[in-house]
Amino acid sequence: MTTYNIAVLPGDGIGPEITEQAVRVLRALPLDLNMQTAHVGGAAYDAHGHPLPPETLSLAKNAHAILFGAVGDWKYDKLERALRPEQAILGLRKEMGLFANFRPAMLFAELAEASSLRPEIVAGLDILIVRELTGDIYFGQPRGIRVVENGPFTGDREGFDTMHYAETEVRRIAHVAFQAAQKRNRRVCSVDKANVLETSQLWREVMISVAAEYPDVELSHMYVDNAAMQLVRAPKEFDVIVTGNLFGDILSDAAAMLTGSIGMLPSASLNAANQGLYEPIHGSAPDIAGKNIANPLATILSAAMLLRYSLNAPELAQRVEAAVQAVLQQGLRTADIKQEGSTLVSTSEMGDAVLKALK
Ligand code: NAD
Repeated sequence: MTTYNIAVLPGDGIGPEITEQAVRVLRALPLDLNMQTAHVGGAAYDAHGHPLPPETLSLAKNAHAILFGAVGDWKYDKLERALRPEQAILGLRKEMGLFANFRPAMLFAELAEASSLRPEIVAGLDILIVRELTGDIYFGQPRGIRVVENGPFTGDREGFDTMHYAETEVRRIAHVAFQAAQKRNRRVCSVDKANVLETSQLWREVMISVAAEYPDVELSHMYVDNAAMQLVRAPKEFDVIVTGNLFGDILSDAAAMLTGSIGMLPSASLNAANQGLYEPIHGSAPDIAGKNIANPLATILSAAMLLRYSLNAPELAQRVEAAVQAVLQQGLRTADIKQEGSTLVSTSEMGDAVLKALK
């Protein structure tokens, strides 16, 4: 049996409580896992003077996958930017080349009432947004603020940024999206703004050429403005959405909110070697930290993604997801997803219930 190295980085706030439950779930599976824990974020700053100390980075780099809790606390707000907890996540992305961000938006039918949309529009929602994470206008040069030298606004200050994507960058995220679709319902919708932007025209061209290598996956295209509309009109019509950094930033947050429950959503960021960082989309929730009331399900579902994408164990991923569904069917809820008639449970009791449902 292969031994998999998993770096467990609990972080700050509720991070330790929720990762503990996900670690229990991973340990209960028939796998040979070498799990090692290290400080990250504010906890690492307190212990080592840096949010991403060299020993944490090296543990992460040598792991098949990283299970990450959350980082951040208001008490670090006065630190210079390079030492703030959030820099740990940016540093890991950069150092490990984590260019593909997976943001599933899933809504278990049992929680459909939590959405701001009508239950029939969102119940059973299961879509995956694949967002390119290391390119686009967020990183393009030149950028800055300058004084306009010609035209009607001469003498004004103007801000400017540069959007660009190299063919290789588009090709690699395309492969990731098509391969993810092969593990799902075999449909990819590429979102761009090819009617206005040259960057998008090239993006679309490359998507079409990569699609030829995946005859079993259906490719469609959608302009980003239409995609935003369709996400709230009929979100269940999507399977995998692939898009650039800027559009993906906005669409993935919109999709997350369709589900209405921040404590339920996992995410992953992968590199070319399928090494991945798996984390809930929510933050460290300092307001409820240490009270054993946080919802651990987003982190447990992140562990399921870890099984599917970095350990290539889709059947174990499904087992974990089915266990989560089972506890929701039993009516167990942490405070953030509490409904009338359901049973309120703590973080650790939710972990106990998932473990029981796994067996
Ligand atoms: P947050 O996601 O931590 O919390 C927002 C609200 O949702 C809070 O009321 C919180 O109690 C609740 N919440 C979040 N996760 C929950 C869970 N699992 N169970 C129950 N309730 C939950 O966002 P914030 O309050 O804006 O940020 C707090 C800190 O987290 C900040 O320092 C921020 O920088 C950081 N942050 C970190 C990440 C990350 O680590 N990737 C992401 C977002 C925010």
